[in-house]
Amino acid sequence: MAAIDMKNIVKKYGDGFPAVNDVSIDVQDGEFMILVGPSGCGKSTLLRMIVGLEDITSGDMVIGDRKVNDLAPKDRNLAMVFQNYALYPHLTVYENIAFPLRLAKTDDKTVDEKVRAASKTLELDEHLDRKPANLSGGQRQRVAMGRAIVRDADAFLFDEPLSNLDAKLRGQMRSEIARLQKKLGITTVYVTHDQTEAMTLGDRVAVLKRGILQQLATPRELYDNP
Ligand code: ADP
Ligand code: ADP
Repeated sequence: MAAIDMKNIVKKYGDGFPAVNDVSIDVQDGEFMILVGPSGCGKSTLLRMIVGLEDITSGDMVIGDRKVNDLAPKDRNLAMVFQNYALYPHLTVYENIAFPLRLAKTDDKTVDEKVRAASKTLELDEHLDRKPANLSGGQRQRVAMGRAIVRDADAFLFDEPLSNLDAKLRGQMRSEIARLQKKLGITTVYVTHDQTEAMTLGDRVAVLKRGILQQLATPRELYDNP
C-alpha cells in the first residue's frame, strides 16, 4: 500500500484548454478517494496519469516515496480494475487470480498460498474451480480484486466500474466495494460521474469541473456545504 500524491498536475492534449489544470490531490495510505464530475471534466485523464497510461504535461506524481512521472505502467505496482473486469473466460477463478503470479514465474507453492489467502479474504474460496461465466457480477469483481491482492499492488484504481449495471445491482456492488476496501485497507482511487456513488463510497471526494479541482472534502463536508 502507498499514498498517491498528485502535485500541480497539468495535462494538455494538443494546444487546447487543459484537460487537467493544476490539480493537487493527496491520497493517503489506505484512503478511498473518489474523483467525480461531469463527462469531460478530466477524471479519466487524471486516473490514466496515475496508472501511467498518459504522459503528464507538468507536475509531479508521487506514489509512496517514488516520483513515478517517467515510470512505465508495469513499474508502478498499481492495479486497475476495469469495467468489464477483464477476466479470462477459459480460466478458472483460481487461475484468473493466479495469473499475475504465473506471469512473474512465481513458484507453485507461493502461488497456491497467495491465491488461497486472497480468495479467503474475498470470500471466493468455494468458487475456485468455476469459470467467470458462472459467477455473479459481484463475484467477478472480487476475482478482479483478488488478482490485484496477490501481487501486493500499492493501490486499486477503478474507472466507472458500475456504470453498465442496473440500479439495484449497482447499489449492491457499491456497498460490496466499500466493505472490501475497508477490510483490505488498500489505497483506492475511484472515478465516477454518479453523485450518489461519490457521496456514499469514499473517505474523501475530489470534485472536478473542466479540469479544475473545485472541492476536496469528506462526503459529510460536501453535504453540509454543497
Ligand atoms: P472524463 O473522464 O471526466 O469524462 P476525460 O478525462 O475523458 O474526461 O476528458 C477530459 C477532456 O480531455 C475532454 O475535453 C476530452 O475531450 C479531452 N480528451 C480526453 N482524452 C483525449 C485524447 N486522447 N485526445 C484529445 N483530447 C482528449
Ligand atoms: P470516457 O469518458 O469513459 O473516458 P470517452 O468516450 O470520453 O470515454 O473516451 C474514450 C476514449 O477516447 C478515451 O481513451 C479517450 O482518451 C479518447 N478521447 C476522448 N475524448 C477525445 C478527444 N477529444 N480526442 C481524442 N480522443 C479522445
